[in-house]
Amino acid sequence: MINKIYEKIKEYDKIVIARHIGADPDALGSSIGLKEIIENTFKKKKVSVIGVYSSKFKYMGKLDKLEEKDIKDSLLIVCDTPNLERIDGVDDITKFKEVIKIDHHPEIDKFGSISWVDDNKSSVCEMICDLTKKTDLKMTKSAAEKLFLGIVSDTGRFMYSSTDINTFKVVMELLKEFDIDFPSLYFDLYSRDLDEVRFEGYIKEHITVTKNGLAYIKITDRILNKFNVDSSSSGNIVSSLNNINEIKAWVFFTEDIKQGVIKVNVRSRGPEINKVLEKYNGGGHKYASGARIKDKKNINKIIKDLDLVCENYKE
Ligand code: AMP
Repeated sequence: MINKIYEKIKEYDKIVIARHIGADPDALGSSIGLKEIIENTFKKKKVSVIGVYSSKFKYMGKLDKLEEKDIKDSLLIVCDTPNLERIDGVDDITKFKEVIKIDHHPEIDKFGSISWVDDNKSSVCEMICDLTKKTDLKMTKSAAEKLFLGIVSDTGRFMYSSTDINTFKVVMELLKEFDIDFPSLYFDLYSRDLDEVRFEGYIKEHITVTKNGLAYIKITDRILNKFNVDSSSSGNIVSSLNNINEIKAWVFFTEDIKQGVIKVNVRSRGPEINKVLEKYNGGGHKYASGARIKDKKNINKIIKDLDLVCENYKE
């Protein structure tokens, strides 16, 4: 599989790399890191990495503007995206000559002439490290830093169960080969505004916990304004409710007036939650899932479904 991907990278002069909407450090680190690695290995290839720019992640590097001429006869590599609907910046994959999928989510849509999907992997950044190590692709320091950040972020600093010996091994090798200044990278990844920290305090104060161990909170636009934060802050905070004895799974419902949706961020430290979110046109991993819902009536339905999953869960 890895060699087939390498051969395709070698074959194409034009390569476009995409990832999921609502980018996070794993999506950005894998796509931008892979671009830098390919350019470092094959100096003449035109590699474009696409998707909506987010100033929050400006330290992860630049994105490219895609022109029609970049698409014609090109190879599309889609990182970290289980379904076609969530590929950022690509509405029709058939415009590309060939497609490769590299992902660590449980599979939703099968696509690509080569599909490397392994939902046991901690992150797609770890998969890009494996791809580079096992082929003639050449890593750069800048790519190594981005891949390091993606791995750290998607494993919750090596805390989640998807972290395994290979995860530590690839990180050890990145640190060994490149003089990575990780305290300064951690600053980029974890620094935040006081407003958001106060908002976190509000959430922790106001969350409801059911007798089955489901914690939930509904966050209105009025509350976001009160704390001077936006709906993306909920996603930055949701993981901080881990390791609380009384809570097995937790869900935030955040009003996003601009997009006209309610963002649903769900995490778990045992019960498998992704099937519930798939019912509501969302998805994700067993212990980290999400959805975007339009109908407010689905809030209580999701709470009920997740509460049942918690009730049925045996520790
Ligand atoms: P988040 O809570 O937004 O950090 O998302 C957690 C996980 O759920 C990520 O792996 C996302 O890929 C996945 N996810 C979030 N929103 C959606 C959605 N609307 N559809 C499918 N998967 C989603």
